[in-house]
Amino acid sequence: MDGRSAMTVPIEPELSRSELADRQDERLVETVANAYENVPFYRDRLDEHGVSPDDIDGIDDIGTLPVTTKTAFREEYPDGLFAVDDGEINRIHASSGTTGKPKIVGYTDGDLERWAAVVARSLAAAGVEPGDTVQNAYGYGLFTGGLGLHDGTERLGATVVPMGGGDTARQLTMAQDLGSDALACTPSYCLYLADCAEERGLDPRELPFETVVIGAEPFTDPMREEIEAALDVTAIDIYGLSEIVGPGVAIECAEAQDGLHVWEDQFYPEIVDPDTGETLPPGETGELVLTTLTKEAQPILRYRTGDITRLYEDECDCGRVERRMGNVTGRTDDLLIVRGVNVYASQIEAVMVGIDDVAPHYRIDLRREDSLDTMEITVEPHERSATTPAELRATIEERLGEELDVSPDGIDVVEPGTIERTEVGKVKRVFDHR
Ligand SMILES: [Zn+2]
Repeated sequence: MDGRSAMTVPIEPELSRSELADRQDERLVETVANAYENVPFYRDRLDEHGVSPDDIDGIDDIGTLPVTTKTAFREEYPDGLFAVDDGEINRIHASSGTTGKPKIVGYTDGDLERWAAVVARSLAAAGVEPGDTVQNAYGYGLFTGGLGLHDGTERLGATVVPMGGGDTARQLTMAQDLGSDALACTPSYCLYLADCAEERGLDPRELPFETVVIGAEPFTDPMREEIEAALDVTAIDIYGLSEIVGPGVAIECAEAQDGLHVWEDQFYPEIVDPDTGETLPPGETGELVLTTLTKEAQPILRYRTGDITRLYEDECDCGRVERRMGNVTGRTDDLLIVRGVNVYASQIEAVMVGIDDVAPHYRIDLRREDSLDTMEITVEPHERSATTPAELRATIEERLGEELDVSPDGIDVVEPGTIERTEVGKVKRVFDHR
């Protein structure tokens, strides 16, 4: 791996598809060797599977490698997955585990440089230009969102305003005073910010943002349209996860806004059946599996992300050769089974956000009563809505039944502003009390 740290990563690699494929082959071979030689966890796993690094000649052999699940991070906590000595680790991040220990991730100097480059590349694809001002409202700290966007913005040659999450009054003032061209935050925070602007007598559409780079939470096309209308912006979906690197694994291009280009010279995507783990044919929807191709500190082989999406096989209008993945529409751990019907929370969101009279604020409460699962939905009517709560309930019931074949046990329509907003961190919409 010597020498790679010194390699400068071009922001856009400008490779042909076949050059990209050659690079993936080489890098997978190096990554497997690094994992086998330096991470006892992987040596054991590969030995158990009867796979030697010598068997891996390139991407065609990737399916023979064992998958990695989030359990590995738990079992090897804190640094059992590191492939380098502590002295070579330049930074630690951690993902907020909902239960138990967080997943620790380490980066060498070279890893940080490559991460900044993919975020810079992502921002450029989103339409952000050198010299622009990017207001970064992702949380700083162990969460990868804040520092990831921060370093990438600087690497692009744009100006970063390191706001971090929350402090919305100040976000608005800074945006106006600095003329921020772009805002990076979660989709739910975009809407929160727009609401706060209105409360202060500001027209959110008059804020200087032209682009919002949104990620870290699943969202749907209707919600994106809501954000674009509320702030008069182009909303670009960025994807990433700490276990692989952080934000910047994939992003939509501003030209097409149709699927997220996966930076395949750094991360190799596959789609598998979430139940069986079998690789699915091209174009089918399933669970995204990612392999790092250049990570030195913590190579990760075939990580089961839990994110449900698909890979597009057609070429993009923008001319980039990297394949695209669809917006993440759900997570395997987001799957609700309500009275035997499988449904993703985000599918319920898609239905509700698609109803004009419903505000994009809702919560789903799951309970178990007498061994039966129940689902209750609480929604706010849109402020401009003139329908009665009874009419709204009937509309929601009809649409959920038609589109998802689910019927909630209760639909509570509450006054606008009642449902708690998330100012800092990821929004929580599903409350499982079972
Ligand atoms: Zn494109």
